[in-house]
Amino acid sequence: QDATQATALAILDALCARLIEAEAELNALDRAVGDGDHGHNLARAANALLAIRDELAPLSVPEMLKRAGKAVVMSVGGASGPLYGTLLLEQGKGLPEGEASRADWARAFTLAVEGVARRGKSAEGEKTMLDVLGPAARAFEGAVDQDFASALAALSQAAVDGHLHCRGLHASRGRAAYVGERSVGQDDPGATTAMICVQLVAAKLAE
Ligand code: ADP
Ligand code: MG
Ligand code: MG
Repeated sequence: QDATQATALAILDALCARLIEAEAELNALDRAVGDGDHGHNLARAANALLAIRDELAPLSVPEMLKRAGKAVVMSVGGASGPLYGTLLLEQGKGLPEGEASRADWARAFTLAVEGVARRGKSAEGEKTMLDVLGPAARAFEGAVDQDFASALAALSQAAVDGHLHCRGLHASRGRAAYVGERSVGQDDPGATTAMICVQLVAAKLAE
């Protein structure tokens, strides 16, 4: 196991713990605009990943991400399982085998977000996870040539700003579209998860 693999596993562990901890909070957000299962779906994804942790540990990071993405797609129902699974899978596919630069990571993140949009037949502005992921990927790619701490700070800030902007949007995709105008001013559950995950990854990489 090299340092990159160890970092990836440490991030995996932290993400899974955080998502399991956030289950009730995320279910509550989804009760307001959807069917109340977002936290349950994400906790299920986290548990599916922890269940294959030993299988993931020896893999190269791109393979680890692809395997993790497939596990999430297979084990989690709802909209978010396939979409978060796609994010992981495409992030793995977008990385070069062997040494990846920070710019490679940023490019792969952008490609992965584009993959989510394709899979969801969705775009930014529809009040979904894409309203956090899109700005986050652009900010990271735009700042990745600066020192790493600044790039991570830009990544994290873009996720927070995207989440805040998303709150004011009118949902036009996913279950929340059914509540229409009533979604304005409410946090989108998937966008909230995206912010939590992006912030956590940025914080871990800054350590
Ligand atoms: P479900 O809506 O099937 O119950 P979840 O509650 O787990 O699934 O996830 C809902 C979240 O998924 C939404 O808050 C939104 O961010 C995201 N989402 C739903 N549909 C799409 C889509 N087509 N594209 C992108 N994100 C989506
Ligand atoms: Mg739901
Ligand atoms: Mg559901």
